[in-house]
Amino acid sequence: MTHPEEGVVATRNNGQREISGQRSGGEASASALPRPLAEADGGEIASRLNWLRAGVMGANDGIVSTAGMVVGVAGAAVSDSALLASSIAAVVAGALSMAVGEYVSVSSQRDSERAELEHESRQLAANPEYGLEQLTRLIEAKGVDRSLAGEVAAQLMERDALGAHASLELGIDPNELTNPWHAGVASMIAFVAGGSIPLAAILLSPRTNAVLITGVAVIVSLAITGVVSAHLGRAPKLRAAVRTMTGGILAMAVTYAIGSFVGAQI
Ligand SMILES: [Zn+2]
Repeated sequence: MTHPEEGVVATRNNGQREISGQRSGGEASASALPRPLAEADGGEIASRLNWLRAGVMGANDGIVSTAGMVVGVAGAAVSDSALLASSIAAVVAGALSMAVGEYVSVSSQRDSERAELEHESRQLAANPEYGLEQLTRLIEAKGVDRSLAGEVAAQLMERDALGAHASLELGIDPNELTNPWHAGVASMIAFVAGGSIPLAAILLSPRTNAVLITGVAVIVSLAITGVVSAHLGRAPKLRAAVRTMTGGILAMAVTYAIGSFVGAQI
């Protein structure tokens, strides 16, 4: 029997999901487990960390894009009221655009995940024997003997056939599809939080040093977001800090140069 999805089978499974099947009953003894296993056990913690990390990256976007905007406008030496209006507009526009973008991308991801789950559920209803065989092969492919894989698959099919196919075949947790509204609002808040740093720096500092003070505030905050997101993702911190700072410096340098040039022409 052939199955159109055979090719994508198991390619999207990450390590976390593979192990998350072992959760039941292990909760109480998690602290006694060796570190990596204990962490894989806490799927909720992992997902919370992912959210936190997305928030930090959203704040990073807010810092860079707002900094570029306010420094560029300040470079054009406009009036205080023009600087105030355009800076606030930059933060609001950026935050809304982030929210809409995130909402759209999470919505379409959720739609396709739902469609895959429906397809899977129809398929299981129509041909449970095939579902069992498929699950057996997926487990076998992880290095389990054929007979044991068959037993495991049979038990999984009995308890929650769709859930087992969702996690082993599609790499989806049917109970944890991301809500697009949550994602949109979260990225908007993150962007505003980040954008308010250059906004406050440019508006509150004395006009003669405003660009310099904003530049320093932005570089320091980008170093912090770089280090924090690297820490959450267990990546090298220095490299991340240098990368985020470089991006911010480039954005400000380019927009300041353009702002100064345009300002001189008016
Ligand atoms: Zn299937």
